Amino acid sequence: MNGDPVIVLFRDDLRVHDNPALAAAVRAGGPVAPLFVIDERLCSAPGSANRTAFLVEALADLRHSLQGLGGQLYLRTGDPVEETMRLVARTGARAVHVAEGFTPRARRVQDRLERACRLERVELPAFPGTSVVPPGAVVPSGADHYRVFTPYWRRWRTLPHRAVERAPRQVRTPIGIPPGAIPAVESLSTRPLSPDRARGGETAGRRAAERWIRESLTSYSDRHDDLLGDHTSRLSPYLHFGCISVNELVAQAAHEPGAESFVRQLCWRDFHHQVLAAFPALAERDYRPRPGATWSEDEPALRAWKEGRTGVPIVDAGMHQLLAEGWMHNRARLIVASYLVRERRVHWRGGAAHFMDWLLDADMASNYGNWQWVAGTGNDTRPNRRLNLARQAQRFDPSGEYVRRYLAGRDRALARDPRDDPGFAPTER
Ligand SMILES: Cc1cc2nc3c(=O)[nH]c(=O)nc-3n(C[C@H](O)[C@H](O)[C@H](O)COP(=O)(O)OP(=O)(O)OC[C@H]3O[C@@H](n4cnc5c(N)ncnc54)[C@H](O)[C@@H]3O)c2cc1C
Repeated sequence: MNGDPVIVLFRDDLRVHDNPALAAAVRAGGPVAPLFVIDERLCSAPGSANRTAFLVEALADLRHSLQGLGGQLYLRTGDPVEETMRLVARTGARAVHVAEGFTPRARRVQDRLERACRLERVELPAFPGTSVVPPGAVVPSGADHYRVFTPYWRRWRTLPHRAVERAPRQVRTPIGIPPGAIPAVESLSTRPLSPDRARGGETAGRRAAERWIRESLTSYSDRHDDLLGDHTSRLSPYLHFGCISVNELVAQAAHEPGAESFVRQLCWRDFHHQVLAAFPALAERDYRPRPGATWSEDEPALRAWKEGRTGVPIVDAGMHQLLAEGWMHNRARLIVASYLVRERRVHWRGGAAHFMDWLLDADMASNYGNWQWVAGTGNDTRPNRRLNLARQAQRFDPSGEYVRRYLAGRDRALARDPRDDPGFAPTER
């Protein structure tokens, strides 16, 4: 197929560095047509506003990078399979490159694309790029995935990693194809945005990663649970959209002093991905059913939790951080989730759905995997574990500064634009 156009269908790999699908297309030697298809049904779904804004910013940044390499990012809106096949017809491409996805939706799209490509005799190679170790690459004997983290980590850390791909020097695109406009966020989603959210894109993500490794990685192991100090990387949204490559991040971090506990957290991400790949119903059903467990239908309790007015300051602060930033510290996620499912007995699905609505990094595998972990229906080897919330607050926010910052932040958000979001309603503590 040398010299024929190749389409690179971007999905959760919105970057030019360490992007094997793009690198292979450029190496093939012919014109390359980078494509992203905006699925309006997903972007306009209630609750996806923060992620839609991040996505639009990431697309603008990717287009800018590709244009800087002499290329273009073609943007289309609609069904990913139909739009890809339309571009195949228009360019005469003989191959479509994708980074393999493992969510149920990514797999459905891939399966349909495979059928469509087969009909047109177009190749559809799938490349790595969304995880360090792809789901299924390692399995314990007699099972199709690891159910417990520690043995997975022991195995994961011994595996050779894929070599990091450089960004291409040049991307030559086919002539005469209209690029398509980057949509305005408001045209896709009318929901209010978190005012203090991170901005999307590979440029911002790489800058944040470099700075994090240079300035903070060495203290991660000792301080990552400190709620106030911002000692975690905050790279999760960039990893979720593939603005930075997790493979490259591990390669960059691994040689630094104190990297092990950070790399271990990145391994958790792969762990949940391989769980979801093996158990696609993770968002709907208990991974490990707990016979006899009862859940309450306490709608008022769920609403108070969502709005950050439970009356438990450490929980309310976490929930306001989520609304203000579209992100929450991992320790706070554990605390607020534990409060909802353990203290109020509200089903994990209600809490996880609210996280999906607001988190920039909301990810099928990590979100539902962690919610089920906290609820005792997931991969925790101690499913009856219960957090003592007062003790959590004492240990991880001893000065009470985290609580003050985010409860005060709530008032600032109100002052800025009180109509912004009913989620910011005054608390009744
Ligand atoms: C109830 C609950 C829901 C969660 N939902 C999500 C989610 O939707 N998306 C998501 O990316 N993470 C989720 N997490 C995991 C974790 O809280 C976030 O990954 C982390 O807070 C992101 O901040 P950071 O980038 O500063 O993390 P760091 O501490 O800097 O860690 C680096 C990276 O490791 C990965 N990571 C760290 N901890 C975990 C973990 N427990 N599970 C999976 N990956 C991890 C993330 O990609 C993270 O960016 C959830 C945790 C809980 C308890």
